[in-house]
Amino acid sequence: MSQEIPTLDALIVGAGSAGLFLLDALTRRGVSVLLVESTAIGTGQTTSSQGILHAGVKYSLGGIAGDDAIEAAAAAALWSGMLAGESCDLRQVRRLADHCYLWRTAGLVSAAAMVGAKVALRTRPEPVAKAARPAWLAHVAGEVLTLAETVIDPRSLLAVLAQRHAGRIALGDVCAIVQDGDCRRVEIRGSRDVNVRARHIMLTAGAGNEELAQVAGTPIKMQRRPLRQAMIRGPLEMAFGHCIDGAKTRVTITSDRSPSGEVVWHIGGQVAEIGPKMSATDFRAHVIEELRGAIPDLDLRGCAFASYEVDRAEPLTKDGRRPARAFAQTVGNVTTIWPVKLVLAPVIAEQVGAALSPRKSTPAQWPPDLSVPPLAQRPWEALTADTWSAIS
Ligand SMILES: Cc1cc2nc3c(=O)[nH]c(=O)nc-3n(C[C@H](O)[C@H](O)[C@H](O)COP(=O)(O)OP(=O)(O)OC[C@H]3O[C@@H](n4cnc5c(N)ncnc54)[C@H](O)[C@@H]3O)c2cc1C
Repeated sequence: MSQEIPTLDALIVGAGSAGLFLLDALTRRGVSVLLVESTAIGTGQTTSSQGILHAGVKYSLGGIAGDDAIEAAAAAALWSGMLAGESCDLRQVRRLADHCYLWRTAGLVSAAAMVGAKVALRTRPEPVAKAARPAWLAHVAGEVLTLAETVIDPRSLLAVLAQRHAGRIALGDVCAIVQDGDCRRVEIRGSRDVNVRARHIMLTAGAGNEELAQVAGTPIKMQRRPLRQAMIRGPLEMAFGHCIDGAKTRVTITSDRSPSGEVVWHIGGQVAEIGPKMSATDFRAHVIEELRGAIPDLDLRGCAFASYEVDRAEPLTKDGRRPARAFAQTVGNVTTIWPVKLVLAPVIAEQVGAALSPRKSTPAQWPPDLSVPPLAQRPWEALTADTWSAIS
């Protein structure tokens, strides 16, 4: 097959937050780069993300700001620049909230964690006066704090980046990644077959990375950490916050509106961690009980419940827990990337981008007849009506 696309500096595989931030970072550096996506943009983790640009609170509840809390706080600073139009301009991304609330359930351990959260963070949570609390937190017995954590709509982030790089993203399956001189030849099956030659291959396929790294002959060990996220829709206020219990986040609530305009609470935290071990029915009962425990006088009349399962995909750690940092590993001319958090995706993209020598390449484009991947739907858009069950 003749080479219809001139040899690229880099080919990115996977259009989640990691792949799209990398595409943007490399394009800004003048690198000739294209991206291939096998299904829909953001399928898997990014579209399921709660969109919280963590300021480090979840990682410092024990009272100590570890490396990861500091990295998250530094990333939050990078995001505030991007949301203001610097470097990777994200001014068009939908911001759902400028802050999250932080409150605790009764108990000494929770009280200690709350103190820990206050002293360990760069962005200190500020107390909220009783009269200034949102109605949904009006009856919380203890202190309610506000935390400068922005919440974005991850789908709008994907949309902004995908639109900016239209022509550089194609739909296709990677069938082979073969060494070809000092480059790699990648065989892609899409709306038609196409071969690409690239100096570097960047794997940003989330849960797909392990298999792709195997195909490239640069195997890498991955771990999946399963979650079951809950969703409640109905006559609710938009709510954003973490309820702390000891050093754990009992529930983390973020909100958005469904296409019909109804408010949907997206619920993660500790309930989502233990959810995969429960039946769907037990999970539903557990989440409702936890919410009622966390939010006194919560009124769920007229609401409906649904849940879905999703895996976090990360590099394997010794103890199977969350890796402390974003991950990128290069073997030969293949780099495998797991940002570990949405908030860290631009950080790792800038680091990987800076490691590629700047070139004066001609900007690359896919042939215009290749299909373009759609945007993945948010979890509550993807579920059919009969998946929701009324809460009595
Ligand atoms: C429920 C949930 C909530 C979260 N909430 C937050 C949060 O509030 N804040 C935060 O900072 N982080 C959060 N995270 C973590 C964050 O979402 C992820 O770390 C991040 O989105 C991972 O992005 P990614 O691009 O590496 O992977 P993904 O988003 O999984 O993207 C991978 C992409 O690669 C494509 N792909 C897969 N296989 C192939 C293949 N063979 N060929 C081509 N393409 C392929 C997929 O279709 C997909 O588009 C959350 C994660 C989950 C699961």
